[in-house]
Amino acid sequence: MEKISNEEHIKACLEIFDRVEKVLKVKKWQILPMQRKALKNPKSCTLGYINFKTRKIVIDVFTPARAQPKAYPSIMATLAHEVAHIQKPPYRSRYKGHMINRQHYPAFYKQVTRNVKKLKKDKELKEYFR
Ligand SMILES: [Zn+2]
Repeated sequence: MEKISNEEHIKACLEIFDRVEKVLKVKKWQILPMQRKALKNPKSCTLGYINFKTRKIVIDVFTPARAQPKAYPSIMATLAHEVAHIQKPPYRSRYKGHMINRQHYPAFYKQVTRNVKKLKKDKELKEYFR
């Protein structure tokens, strides 16, 4: 990837987020880049998270160790994962006599794959996969 400034990178990410909201039909949700206050421990990093109450999806757009602009395909893979949590929501299920929260189940992962395929096919987003 050619070298771009952090500002340019965030600008490109905001354009990607905008387009992903349309392509994956999550218009009532807000997708935001993660705010980095300081360099975190690279081992305890989160790629992204979703908040069902505030309807926000937050994505880390910099690499954990060196805080360099992260490659767009990996940003979109994280997005495809987080958006799948809306499409295939978590549910409670009984497991060995306990109630557990199922978040990452087979139908969820199928949805992630569908999302990635959709993003790769989109005429605007496919440029970012090169
Ligand atoms: Zn997840």
